[in-house]
Amino acid sequence: MLTERRPRLGAAAILVSPESPSCAILGAGPAGLVAADRLARLGARVTVYEHKPSPARKLLMAGRGGLNITHSESLDKFVTRYGAASARLEPILRDFPPDALRAFCAELGEETFVGSSGRVFPKSFKAAPLLRALLARLAANGVTIATRHRFDGFDEEGALRLIGAGGEAMLRRADAVVLALGGASWPRLGADGAWAGMLAATGVAVTPLAPANCGVLIDWPEAFRAAFEGAPLKTIALRHGEARIAGDVVVTRGGLEGGPVYALASALRRAIERDGAATMLVDLRPTLSLEALAAKLGRERAKQSFANFLRKAAGLSKLEIALLRIAAPTPPEDAQGLAALIKALPLPIAATAGLARAISTSGGVAFDELNEDLMLKRLPGAFVAGEMLDFDAPTGGYLLQAAFSTGMAAARGVSRRLDLKGAPFSRSAIASGERGRSAPCDSLDESGLPPAKAAAPPPPLPARAARGER
Ligand SMILES: Cc1cc2nc3c(=O)[nH]c(=O)nc-3n(C[C@H](O)[C@H](O)[C@H](O)COP(=O)(O)OP(=O)(O)OC[C@H]3O[C@@H](n4cnc5c(N)ncnc54)[C@H](O)[C@@H]3O)c2cc1C
Repeated sequence: MLTERRPRLGAAAILVSPESPSCAILGAGPAGLVAADRLARLGARVTVYEHKPSPARKLLMAGRGGLNITHSESLDKFVTRYGAASARLEPILRDFPPDALRAFCAELGEETFVGSSGRVFPKSFKAAPLLRALLARLAANGVTIATRHRFDGFDEEGALRLIGAGGEAMLRRADAVVLALGGASWPRLGADGAWAGMLAATGVAVTPLAPANCGVLIDWPEAFRAAFEGAPLKTIALRHGEARIAGDVVVTRGGLEGGPVYALASALRRAIERDGAATMLVDLRPTLSLEALAAKLGRERAKQSFANFLRKAAGLSKLEIALLRIAAPTPPEDAQGLAALIKALPLPIAATAGLARAISTSGGVAFDELNEDLMLKRLPGAFVAGEMLDFDAPTGGYLLQAAFSTGMAAARGVSRRLDLKGAPFSRSAIASGERGRSAPCDSLDESGLPPAKAAAPPPPLPARAARGER
């Protein structure tokens, strides 16, 4: 006799048995967790292996910035944001688009809203509630999250090599595997890119991992750093080559951070690699034409100090004036020359920030290595999702959307391969109340470094399912 269990949230009944196909998900970031969610709902026996003591630390860190989960622009525009990978990602993004991600969040109790920039955030501005709800649903749907299990490659027969907390080696087999190990930025949060060497050893082409969406390093004079570290430069525009990006940036101890900087970082890095140096131009008054600004600066200066004159005539702040003095210790006297400087202040860039502080990673598993279901052609049964893939996208919610969409796509690929339609659920498992082991999630905050406490008690099975009712 078959007994079924209903998922906590979601329409279809799931049926899981020990004979159900097994799926191993490697990495408990957003890509891995959403794949686990979808596969568990389809009746697979799912185990997520995560080497950190708790899941999704980078997602939690993103929550510190309000969790810009996706973007509200038209889907036609959205799908072009992934550079050379846009064509390969387009069907995947259309299959699980921003609206679907927003509905997914709402289903988990996290309503989202569109900010004034078009970016989408959860109303709580946090990642922890969403993560907590997703982990609870995974546990209720039978998913085991095995933390402190490090993936260390495949053996000759395709079994997963894992290393436990005490350094013990383990082999695990699964009918399908989803690799969702992230990129290599902010490695202290978990994704360290060690998989790149493992996959390359099996012959899989991996585009070298490099920092993307990272800040730039500028050798600030000590007095400037002391006075302005943490101060925002608002409504400016940055230029490098043909690219010009407007927005706000922040002065950091070592340089500049913020959306416009991130957008130029890859091009600046390439220029530094090619020429040994690069210059970024800052337009401090992007809303004024050169002529209009020159007209304002053509006023009589009288006895005003130079700083006072710039403040009154051009509306420059103390920070902007200090920046101008760094770029041009002896600024031009004439209005035209001064206006030109204010609209194209040259800042020498020493380097772009490294992977340790980059928001994302460019490079990854080359799309040519994958079929349209994101399965590795050389390792049939192994699928790839999330930031491991070779795409680059700006900030604005595009990174998380890609993680969720590709996680969904990989799960769909697994379900096709294993013909998952829902398999019988073990009665003994229901009778014993056996469910997936919950990862520590009750102690998560937005710090990205939650203490590893005992697992939160999983929520009770829905009454009907617990009684084995159909
Ligand atoms: C500070 C910061 C802020 C960000 N803010 C935003 C934002 O607002 N909006 C946005 O769209 N994007 C943002 N991002 C980027 C976004 O968080 C990532 O693109 C996204 O988390 C990638 O998801 P993923 O599942 O592919 O990888 P990850 O989230 O990195 O997850 C990979 C998981 O795999 C685990 N893992 C790695 N190696 C192993 C191994 N060998 N064995 C077992 N487990 C392993 C890791 O510990 C990790 O849990 C931000 C990133 C940072 C660093």
